[in-house]
Amino acid sequence: MLMLTAACWAFLVPAAAQITAVRAGKLIDPDSGSVLTGQTILIRADKIEAVGSGVTIPPNAKIIDLSKMTVLPGLIDCHTHVASGAQDARDLDVFRKTAAQYVLESVPNARAMLESGFTTVRDVGTMRALVDVALRDAINRGDIIGPRMFVAGAYVTITGGAGAATGLAPDITLPWDMHYGEANSPWEVRQVVRKLAHDGVDHVKVLSSGAVLAHGSYPKSQEFTLEELQAAVDEASHFGLRVEAHAHSAEGIKNAIRAGVASVEHATMIDDEGIALAKQRGTYLDMDIANDECIQEQGRTGEVPKDMLEKETQLAQITFDNFRKAVAAGAKMSFGTDASVCPFGTSGKQFGFMVKYGMTPMQAIQAATSNAADLLGHSTEFGSIKPGKYADIIAVTGDPLADIRLLEDVKFVMKDGRIYKQ
Ligand SMILES: [Zn+2]
Repeated sequence: MLMLTAACWAFLVPAAAQITAVRAGKLIDPDSGSVLTGQTILIRADKIEAVGSGVTIPPNAKIIDLSKMTVLPGLIDCHTHVASGAQDARDLDVFRKTAAQYVLESVPNARAMLESGFTTVRDVGTMRALVDVALRDAINRGDIIGPRMFVAGAYVTITGGAGAATGLAPDITLPWDMHYGEANSPWEVRQVVRKLAHDGVDHVKVLSSGAVLAHGSYPKSQEFTLEELQAAVDEASHFGLRVEAHAHSAEGIKNAIRAGVASVEHATMIDDEGIALAKQRGTYLDMDIANDECIQEQGRTGEVPKDMLEKETQLAQITFDNFRKAVAAGAKMSFGTDASVCPFGTSGKQFGFMVKYGMTPMQAIQAATSNAADLLGHSTEFGSIKPGKYADIIAVTGDPLADIRLLEDVKFVMKDGRIYKQ
């Protein structure tokens, strides 16, 4: 198959690909930060063929009338854990299930993400290695419904660190897939990255600082060293993979930026030097700022253990303040929610927080579309509604630039030219 030329491929494409014309009342273009009116989007099979006010609709086209709605590119959540099983799978529950149960319980998560308007996710780690690869592939084959997934395969973490299965007696032996990403030197990091690349992951997730939702791991601490982070970025680059780093602590954040990661996740305690460094290096800050409420609620119901809750309480306001600072400084920002902490299907709630803490509605939309696609390295394929890109299109009633919270209630979802919600 690899030997087929482009010309040969042409014969494999069905002769009469479905043509669809979407009439868009308002169309938000995140690339230019503008709103267009009276546009028609012409879609052939899974790709956008033309967009404009003077587009001729072929007589055989299926017409979708969204002329009373605002049309946007499919949303992208750059920090999810879709492949993390059922939402009751908290804390030590992961030990009560097989990997097969874990991934099958993730099937509704994927559907909920897509139906809420997120046509693409960057899934940034799972406690059972490679179940995310299986989920991605099942979606791509059309076996199950979900967003286009870009997966990490495992957490690349120090032993006992933010991405490790912690809180257990030391004489308990973990199955292979619960410590697949553990590494404790630059060369061990390289080895793990090589394994993951071979397993077909799309990017690499490293844990640069401690975490909130992990026993015995502390957000203020540094975990991987600069040398280990540099090894991850360099080794990943050999396979064309980008690296994102979980980091709460100021030093953990700066180490990750200096090592050359594509994005810093959380970036909770980022200081002025960190913000300046991120700007200078073009590093995306992927700050999840909507899930404090969920964690506090889960603390009340006992789902989140007390030690984790205390760490969260200390950090919530710091996150809001630093998000505001980073936006004001003009750092590159993407949209990531840590979906799995809050229920799948509620990622849209973060837009309201982003606007509350300093973004314009257009900036918040750009974070989840054009910026997110740029962070993933796929700007030519999605992130805006342009000819040649995948037909990932959503719509809401009303004007989300006037009321950003309309994005919590997406009415129309198309991915790859196929309608999933109307
Ligand atoms: Zn996360």
